[in-house]
Amino acid sequence: MDASALEPYVTWGTNPEMAGPINASFPEIKDHNDQLAYEYMDLHPGQYASDIKIEYVFIGSCTNGRLSDLQEAAKILSNKKIKKGVTGVVVPGSRPVRQAAEKIGLDQVFIQAGFEWREPGCSMCLGMNPDKVPEFVHCASTSNRNFAGRQGKNARTHLCSPAMAAAAAINGKFVDIRQMAGGIN
Ligand code: SF4
Repeated sequence: MDASALEPYVTWGTNPEMAGPINASFPEIKDHNDQLAYEYMDLHPGQYASDIKIEYVFIGSCTNGRLSDLQEAAKILSNKKIKKGVTGVVVPGSRPVRQAAEKIGLDQVFIQAGFEWREPGCSMCLGMNPDKVPEFVHCASTSNRNFAGRQGKNARTHLCSPAMAAAAAINGKFVDIRQMAGGIN
C-alpha cells in the first residue's frame, strides 16, 4: 500500500470508521447509525471538514503522543499562533516522550504557539477529570476514539493526525496540511 498517496483523513461521525479525505464532502446517510452520528455531530452529508468551526485541539494520547507525532505538530506550529478562541492542549504519550521533547525544545514551540504543555496521561482522550471538551464544541483530536461523549458530554470529536490538528488550531478549522507552508508533503 502506498500511503504517500493518501489524503489526510478526518472523521465526521462517532466511530473511527466514519471518516473521509479532507477534500471530500461527507457521505450520504446509508443507515440509522449514520443518521444518529450526523445528529450528534450536528453535521450533514455534503458538508466539508473545512466547514467545521474548531474550538478545541487535543494533541496527545498513547496512540499519537510519540516524539515523532509531537515533532510533526511542532513543525506546523513553529513561529505561528493558534487562532483566538481556540483552546489547545498537548499531552505527551509518556514521561520519557515528554522529557525527550523538552530536550529538543518542542515544549517551547507549543507554548509560544498558545498551547498548554501538560504532564503525560490519558487526559482528553477520554475526558478524564477536568480535561473535557465543552458541550457541543468541535474538537480536532489526535486520540483514537470519537464515540459520543468520549471527550465529554455532547463533545464533538474529529480524529485526525497531529499535523492536521496543529493546522486546525492555527486556522480554527480543518485545512489540508499539504497546502500549508511548513506542511508535510
Ligand atoms: S484512554 Fe486514550 S490515551 Fe489512555 S490508554 Fe486509552 S486510548 Fe490510550
